[in-house]
Amino acid sequence: MDKWQRELEKNIKTIDHLKKHISLTPKEEKILEKVIEIHPMNITHYYLSLINKKDKNDPIKKMIVPSRDELNLEGSYDTSGEKQSTKSVGLQHKYPETAFVLATNKCAAYCRFCFRKRLVGLSTAEILERFDTAVDYIKKHKEIDNVLVSGGDPLILPTETVEKFLSKLSKIKHLSFIRFGSRVPVTFPDRILMDKKLLKIFKKYSKKNKRLYIVTHFNHPNEITEKSTNAVDKLIKANVILNDQTALLKGVNDKPEILVELMKKLVSIGVNPYYLFQCRPVKRVVHHFQVPFYRGCKIVDDARKKLDGHSKRFKFMMSHNRGKIEVLGTRNNYIYFKQHQARNPELVGQIFRKKLNRKSGWLDDKLNLS
Ligand code: SF4
Repeated sequence: MDKWQRELEKNIKTIDHLKKHISLTPKEEKILEKVIEIHPMNITHYYLSLINKKDKNDPIKKMIVPSRDELNLEGSYDTSGEKQSTKSVGLQHKYPETAFVLATNKCAAYCRFCFRKRLVGLSTAEILERFDTAVDYIKKHKEIDNVLVSGGDPLILPTETVEKFLSKLSKIKHLSFIRFGSRVPVTFPDRILMDKKLLKIFKKYSKKNKRLYIVTHFNHPNEITEKSTNAVDKLIKANVILNDQTALLKGVNDKPEILVELMKKLVSIGVNPYYLFQCRPVKRVVHHFQVPFYRGCKIVDDARKKLDGHSKRFKFMMSHNRGKIEVLGTRNNYIYFKQHQARNPELVGQIFRKKLNRKSGWLDDKLNLS
């Protein structure tokens, strides 16, 4: 076992362990036991150390410590039609040019807002069994020019497995780049800092004409620490290009000044702000994490007023059943959207509007467009 794997073994997974670090009333203990029976808890000591224990509304705590709000059953577990996009177990193909691989159901730490809560730390039924099956599919589909390896968190897989993925994908001539989606730089930067072999592999496969991208997931400026900055620096030195996806989350980053600080810090450490995602209506998540569109637009507009062009490159986006939809903004009692990616490429570029409902945070699956 590698050093970073031994480190992960020490994660906080039980309420008994949690209460050594965070004070809980007996009633809370009981409720949280119930919550983690449904969706397991997994917290790295590093990420736990970022919590300000004196602040009962600490944003890191809200993202990682289970809460009674997870007993609310509003929402669903597949909000963007992942089942419909699945071509074989663990392989999705929603947009012509992108293949998506579900490489694992595990992560360094389990975020309470996760939109793949249905599988994280739970069932492996949707996880790829044989990587070669995905490789064969991608080889046959020449319209695919990039692959996103995600999960769970693929960087939690053994380094040899990461290398196998890269070695096989790099040989496919019609792929122009490869992406890993990972929150490891945020919740467990030691995975990168403790494993020189991983960095060597990244350097080997991130070639001048076929780059390796890591899509990070920073949500709050408090996540940008000396350690995460060092991990990012190592990745950049290994020729990896870093883009960030942030989720807009109630009680975490739903204030313009927090987004401003986050985006500025990301740019300063060399991570490109890419998407700000509307929180999906996920069961046991939506109730306490989703920000209505109306507020979201206002927060984004106010943040953008204080950001330079580089820091405000991110698009405010929703990952809908119909595809990726950009949330453009509000005007005269309407909210405006633009289709950014779609199962049906004919829809890309379409602008549409919906009557403004100040409480609404999602669009119906069957869109009635105007
Ligand atoms: S690291 Fe990503 S996939 Fe894993 S629990 Fe967090 S948000 Fe979900």
